[in-house]
Amino acid sequence: MPGYELFGAEERKEVNDVLETGIMMRYGFDGPRKGIWKAKELEQAICDKLNVQYTQLASSGTAALTTAMAALGLGAGDEIIMPTFTFVASFESVFSVGATPVLVDVDDTLTLDPKAVEAAITPRTRAVMPVHMCGAMADLDALQAICKKHNLLLLEDACQSFGATYKGKALGSIGDAGTFSFDFVKTITCAEGGAIITNNKDVYIKCDGYTDHGHDHLGVDRGADLHPFIGYNYRISELHAAVGLAQVRKLDTFLAMQRKTKKIFKEALATVPGVTFRRLPDEAGDSATFLSFFLPEAEQARKAAAAMKAAGLPAFYYYDNNWHYIRQWDHFRNGDVLTPFAPGLKQAMEIYKTKQFPASDAIISRNISTPINLSWSDTEVQERAEKLVKAVKSAL
Ligand SMILES: *Cc1c(COP(=O)(O)O)cnc(C)c1O
Repeated sequence: MPGYELFGAEERKEVNDVLETGIMMRYGFDGPRKGIWKAKELEQAICDKLNVQYTQLASSGTAALTTAMAALGLGAGDEIIMPTFTFVASFESVFSVGATPVLVDVDDTLTLDPKAVEAAITPRTRAVMPVHMCGAMADLDALQAICKKHNLLLLEDACQSFGATYKGKALGSIGDAGTFSFDFVKTITCAEGGAIITNNKDVYIKCDGYTDHGHDHLGVDRGADLHPFIGYNYRISELHAAVGLAQVRKLDTFLAMQRKTKKIFKEALATVPGVTFRRLPDEAGDSATFLSFFLPEAEQARKAAAAMKAAGLPAFYYYDNNWHYIRQWDHFRNGDVLTPFAPGLKQAMEIYKTKQFPASDAIISRNISTPINLSWSDTEVQERAEKLVKAVKSAL
């Protein structure tokens, strides 16, 4: 799964190009940088690879999400519908623009249940944000239809699913905007970094300015730029972009390796009665960073995850995990912030002190996701597949 496993000469070469000139900033210094523009090159490479018109890099996936929300005009009083199962960064970004997160249940796609989305729409709803968890896609046709019907924005948090597709289109490129994370454990890494992609020029221009203090990047030098709106510093550095450039060129190799390994694991596990798999609305587009499956009962899943870990196999049992599922997000539920929420948001957050999500619990408590690593040899993959079957059987 994580690109850092195959870090090597290619990444070092790209970083060294930057170190040779010493120009580590992505803008300006046109003379001394001697034609080295790693961030620009990576943005073009992502556009080409994902067949999307615009890419804006950012300093992280969280910064990319915040930027996308700002560029889409989301802010105070606006409700953004998002799933109960995601990484905490998804709601952090909603708060960072002052908007209101509306958490709704997930289904067996491990992200937004379209029926739950429709039921949560109010006159204040502005956007729906599916999170393409664990390398694969939400039910985008259904979600797009809802957005169209209710005139809502579709923002794809594709931070965990770089390179995955839905019906031939890159995840992230289907909604009004999509975001990626290139942090250290993602499909490809920049060490830290992220990106917003969109086919909407206006959204892109706003992302470009927002990530760099509102600069319009049209002046003859930075001092001569105008500032049509207030932005922040969510820039990526040339050093980080250089790592990403080497990594994006390896994407197809990563995906092929993951898909091969995942197929072996999945076929092995399919022989175990009681095991069912995450529903993939377009199986061919799965980036295969994880194999996600269900057991009939929560206790069996908890026991199987423990047995997998004891056998040396990585296993995420998200139901008990502090980062990815609402059950353990006490800071979210209690609204523990360092600077006060605006009054409307504070009031809207009150419901989470007690709100329960039994439909999500019924999914997540039975789910185990096992990451697919890039560094395993063929023999190791076979051994791991056998251990996986044994561990899961022991819990049933
Ligand atoms: C990793 C991740 C992010 C945030 O990315 P960072 O680069 O770590 O800030 C956002 N959403 C999801 C679903 C993620 O997994």
